[in-house]
Amino acid sequence: MDVFDKAFAWRDLKIAKATGFYPYFKSISDSDATEVVIDGRRAIMIGSNNYLGLTRHPKVIAAAHEAIDKYGTSCSGSRLLNGTLELHHELERRFAKFLGKEAAICVTTGFTTNLAVLSALLGRGDVVFSDRQNHASLVDGIRLSYADEKRFRHNDMAQLEKLLRETDEKHGKLIVTDGVFSMEGDLADLKGITALAKQYGARVAVDDAHGLGVMGAHGRGTAEHFGVEDDVDLVLGTFSKSFASLGGVCAGPQQAIDWIRHKARPFIFQAAMTPSAAAACMAALDVIENEPERRERLWQITEKMQRGFKSMGFDTGVSVTPVVPLLIGEQLRTFKFWKALFEAGVFCNPVIPPAVAANQCLLRTSYMATHTDDQLDRVLDITEQIGKKLGVIPSVRPHTAVTVKVASPGHDQFLASAERSEAPVSLWSNGNVRDERPLHKRLGDVVERFTWTAINTDPSDMVKVTALPKKLWDRRAQLPQLVMEKGVSLVMRQKDA
Ligand code: PMP
Repeated sequence: MDVFDKAFAWRDLKIAKATGFYPYFKSISDSDATEVVIDGRRAIMIGSNNYLGLTRHPKVIAAAHEAIDKYGTSCSGSRLLNGTLELHHELERRFAKFLGKEAAICVTTGFTTNLAVLSALLGRGDVVFSDRQNHASLVDGIRLSYADEKRFRHNDMAQLEKLLRETDEKHGKLIVTDGVFSMEGDLADLKGITALAKQYGARVAVDDAHGLGVMGAHGRGTAEHFGVEDDVDLVLGTFSKSFASLGGVCAGPQQAIDWIRHKARPFIFQAAMTPSAAAACMAALDVIENEPERRERLWQITEKMQRGFKSMGFDTGVSVTPVVPLLIGEQLRTFKFWKALFEAGVFCNPVIPPAVAANQCLLRTSYMATHTDDQLDRVLDITEQIGKKLGVIPSVRPHTAVTVKVASPGHDQFLASAERSEAPVSLWSNGNVRDERPLHKRLGDVVERFTWTAINTDPSDMVKVTALPKKLWDRRAQLPQLVMEKGVSLVMRQKDA
């Protein structure tokens, strides 16, 4: 028996390469973040975790350059001995403050942050409750810890409660979960988790790798989004996503952080974050604190893409974040879709088991605040064409998404248009229209036209359509702003024209 036998016998890789469906380790020869060049082909990047687009922010780049000039390219050792810079301590102070905790520790990667924290804090006799869809780094951290692991079905609070109830009081208890789940783009039920933690005397650790910078009014993550920051004991995060760098952080009570700092083997026996990584992360934190418009733009884009894909008939699962999966199902079909997208100039990530269950393969798409509308429209067009060709979506959009052009009697130009789809209909004012009348008059035309159209629809649709004038009236004070900025979301579905 040779330990290499399994590697020698492994055929999957050869088959995937021979059939031309191998999508991994594609090397990028050029990149401006939103677009990359791979195999000599330019592609729009929708497979990155650079959510705020900060890898190209001038302040972030300048900070990294300055740190290299000052400290060189590496710390050449562990934080414990020779590798701690003033920059590391400052970064830790800044993160403690940002996340509203007593202290923070920065580790060389997000993955080893999780290994360090869980292996140091948990030990024999402790019980850890872990969501089944938690990231691999949490799973491995738990393995390193020797704690007793109890896994609960994804976001299943009833099962979590049962497991907590069955656990003897004498055990130390920690509930561990991702904040934003990285493949499906949904959120942990942090309200439910923190309530149960209080009830059963457990601590809570949230890995908010995909939530920091993105979720919450100030970008403080999923706990801020749910209003439970004080009930989350440890916030874990990575710098390789919104923070445009490499490294990780854990923020929590001073004494817990001191313990981790002196006991965690993955921290102590690993070289420190490079000077440029620490400086880039600090500059990114400045931008996150001072440029909330980036987060707003990211959410605008998220809404556009979610709505766009859904209106074509794609299944985006349970996503409520800038991670928008397109559920495809079978593995080969997923690879075919991925390849066709790549050849048409769109780069995303195919996700297959073990990252997802068998026959629940998906294309993971994710967005950056710096994507342009033109890029996103191209992504939507190309994805729709391929989706239809491969039979993933119907050839005609569900509930036909023909643009409804709205004009008042006697006007040949239209005043507003609405796209119809399964999703709530959005109404935009038309920028080309030279109609000098006040907005509420133009909207009056729209309402009139919708009501007129509604007469020809099913009774069930009628109910929704007739609610429209009231809805608009209720929000009349906000209308000009809403329509100009993002369109009013109107609850209406209409039969095919
Ligand atoms: N936690 C989660 C939820 C992640 O998605 C990742 C990275 N994909 C990590 C931790 C590890 O972070 P890093 O890759 O920056 O080491």
